[in-house]
Amino acid sequence: MKDCIFCKIAAGEIPCSKIYEDDAFLAFHDIAPQAPLHFLLIPKRHIRNIMEIEGGDDALLGALLYKAQALAVELGCGEKGARFVVNCKADGGQTVDHLHIHVLGGRPLAWPPG
Ligand code: AMP
Repeated sequence: MKDCIFCKIAAGEIPCSKIYEDDAFLAFHDIAPQAPLHFLLIPKRHIRNIMEIEGGDDALLGALLYKAQALAVELGCGEKGARFVVNCKADGGQTVDHLHIHVLGGRPLAWPPG
């Protein structure tokens, strides 16, 4: 989608620190990491947020979550774990309107968020 920064990253128009890519997904390091490991996994298809998911998207979402888990393990979080976060709209703290999972690991993370 025009004017979406993550669509531009997925299209290769804006550079990123790429971790993984296939036809459907792209993973890259967050530009402002909040933990020793902090990456984002996005579907290449523009979906604004998790509220806009539809019934036909269940396979895509399952694959997205499974890929996030696989990458977290590959990047060293298998034993100690990680946090998988999906922010949504204003109250959820979403700042980029393209669905993404944050994966944060490499240090203990507090709960609940502020
Ligand atoms: P959210 O606040 O959940 O929408 O998360 C958006 C995330 O995207 C933030 O953690 C930003 O640091 C990150 N971000 C924004 N622009 C870029 C970029 N060009 N490359 C990598 N991460 C980005």
